[in-house]
Amino acid sequence: MVKAVVGACWGDEGKGKITDMLAADADIVVRFQGGANAGHTIVNDYGKFALHLLPSGSFNPNVTNMIGNGVALDIPQLIKELDEVVAKGVPRPNIVVSERAQVLMPYHKLFDQYEEERLSDRQFGSTKSGIAPFFSDKFSKIGFQVWELFGEEELKEKINNVLEVKNLMLEHIYHKPLLDADELYKTCKEYAAMIEPYVIDSVQFMHNAVKEGKTILLEGQLGSLKDPDFGIYPMTTSSSTLAGYGAIGAGVPPYEIKEIITVVKAYSSAVGAGAFVSEIFGEEADELRRRGGDGGEYGATTGRPRRMGWFDCVASRYGCRVQGTTAVAFTVLDVLGYLDEIPVCIGYEVDGEILCDFPTTGKLEKAKPVLKVLPGWKSDIRGIKKYEDLPENCRNYIEFIEKELEVPIKIVSNGPARSDIIMR
Ligand code: GDP
Repeated sequence: MVKAVVGACWGDEGKGKITDMLAADADIVVRFQGGANAGHTIVNDYGKFALHLLPSGSFNPNVTNMIGNGVALDIPQLIKELDEVVAKGVPRPNIVVSERAQVLMPYHKLFDQYEEERLSDRQFGSTKSGIAPFFSDKFSKIGFQVWELFGEEELKEKINNVLEVKNLMLEHIYHKPLLDADELYKTCKEYAAMIEPYVIDSVQFMHNAVKEGKTILLEGQLGSLKDPDFGIYPMTTSSSTLAGYGAIGAGVPPYEIKEIITVVKAYSSAVGAGAFVSEIFGEEADELRRRGGDGGEYGATTGRPRRMGWFDCVASRYGCRVQGTTAVAFTVLDVLGYLDEIPVCIGYEVDGEILCDFPTTGKLEKAKPVLKVLPGWKSDIRGIKKYEDLPENCRNYIEFIEKELEVPIKIVSNGPARSDIIMR
């Protein structure tokens, strides 16, 4: 049984918590896309953790955590995260890494930084983790799969070939110091030694796992609106954030993905630039940011304050649709308990027309939110375990949004802890 846990919007929906919770019944948790450029915050019995590359099953000793072939594998970052969780008392997580995953090289981070410098005020607001240069190289066929790190003469030759083009760019476009082939070879050898204990034939591994009926969780990073095809291109990320891509980035048959749990947050937040129709500003935004998430809405990787907004029915419905959602996990609902009234965005006004279907970026940038105001419930709902025990206005909020999403909300999260969960 393969399940995916993915995000509906810009990311930071609380996927980490939901995956950590669902990992209790899973055999395998797989990261299938992205890299260390975003983070999950997980609060459990061991403490509070910000994971960037480690799968969220890392706290469960019965889970095998896999870095799939679709991931941008930053080897020192992975080892650092592993050491950090172990240092905080977590039993050493069971980690495997696909031999087909590609390796994020130190120069990917440099190129990310240099390109943002070159773009200056037109920059994408990259986290400078090297993700865009990494995926450009992967699809330009000058990336390195993990197995290549173990070569000698072939590896040297490839490094020479790749650095030829990299150094041309460094010299003529960016005017930066050139890269040295011997040094990169040495780095590759260090990376090889670090990663060797974890490397497996992931195709065979997943094939056997599916055949044996193992429960496999595909863990998405970011959300639908950051997908390079269906998101707010070009303010997107560089690898697909959709459950469907799990078939490729993890290596499972597409028809085996039976459940797609899309995590939807009870209000909106976004990091980085790009259209955000229901965005709010000023004191209203500051208050929601301060009260949001677990101790405020700040990026888990960058610490940047997140942009805040009201719940966006248009974006979230679309986000669920492109994921192929079978059930929604509705999160961070407790945060809204301070509001007398809660606005939600139910349509976009573009050039005098009201849109209910999420448009392409050009129209999106012109869109103004059409808001509907719902009554608040003015109480703390943390600690409530049964749906019926939620205040009436809170249930009405959930049910209004469920209708808008057109998919059932089966899980409600009313606090950051693993136990703050209401199953419907
Ligand atoms: P992810 O990348 O989708 O996993 O999301 P993040 O970890 O970046 O952001 C979610 C934040 O909200 C984290 O700080 C979580 O601990 C917190 N969180 C998750 N679910 C809830 C919830 O139901 N209520 C509250 N108050 N915080 C939550």
